Amino acid sequence: MTAQIIDGKLMAQQLREQLAQKVAELPTVPHLAVILVGNDEASIIYDRNKQKAAEAIGMKCTIHHLDEQTPQDQLLDLIKQLNSDSSVNGIIVQMPLPKHLNSEQIIESIDHTKDVDGFGIYNIGLLHSNNSSAMVAATPQAVLYMLQQTLGDVVGKHAVIIGRSNIVGRPLASLLLNHHCTVTIAHSKTVNLSQITASADIVVAACGVAGLVKKDWVKPGATVIDVGINRVNGKLCGDVDFENVKEVASYITPVPGGVGPMTVTMLLNNTLQAYLEQNQREQNA
Ligand code: NDP
Repeated sequence: MTAQIIDGKLMAQQLREQLAQKVAELPTVPHLAVILVGNDEASIIYDRNKQKAAEAIGMKCTIHHLDEQTPQDQLLDLIKQLNSDSSVNGIIVQMPLPKHLNSEQIIESIDHTKDVDGFGIYNIGLLHSNNSSAMVAATPQAVLYMLQQTLGDVVGKHAVIIGRSNIVGRPLASLLLNHHCTVTIAHSKTVNLSQITASADIVVAACGVAGLVKKDWVKPGATVIDVGINRVNGKLCGDVDFENVKEVASYITPVPGGVGPMTVTMLLNNTLQAYLEQNQREQNA
């Protein structure tokens, strides 16, 4: 058996076309504000990509690029200003921040209705209590969307997620649980990981360990979603031994071209949702 490849690039392109159509019908332009502190090269590239993707679907995206030495108070002031600016619908702060800054306080200072990264405790609480108004982090949403597009329905499937970070593993576990999967979360202290993954209908690798998931870790016919982004000898690869695992899985995502392009698309989708909900609230006020 050779797995069918889940084409994240194509899925992202199709979803972006749908988003562009919706944006074109709006009376005003949704606006995403991105705050970038310092000169981390990868962060600069990520943010430019977000800006390009937003502009390509007709959204506005402003990057506030601040000096590496920016003090906490100055950053908090900027967020306060963006929170009260009704022309700004979504706010994200690019992580990681320089070490002198308190990331937790900064994330919590973003108005929860504009927290399009879904990293704030308010939105995490809504997600964990299965409240449909939660703003859900983009990567977990991308994974769910890809699973639904591929399998139709995930109800009753056993999903094993490798990774328990606040931005991928934990919110994804809640999201899949809310969609009636049976969820197992694994991490670096998990014992007999390969036996646990071998019992899964869905394996999601989000641990940042290149090629960790091997062919004999995967049940024949399972679906494998690779969130990992690693660089080995200058080449991008995921957390799954793609060439061998594709011989046993039914469906598998590649790296690059899998979850990555879908993540940016889901961020834009969140920005559109935030815009619509803010406008609805204004009309109701
Ligand atoms: P973190 O480093 O925050 O978390 C990694 C998680 O994996 C931790 O829970 C850790 O366990 C677990 N882990 C590490 N090693 C092992 C192991 N050998 N066996 C089992 N579990 C292990 O990473 P992120 O969640 O931020 O990101 C994970 C990967 O996904 C990275 O490669 C990142 O680049 C990528 N990523 C991709 C995105 C995309 O859009 N495609 C978006 C975000 C991230 P413990 O908690 O015990 O330390």
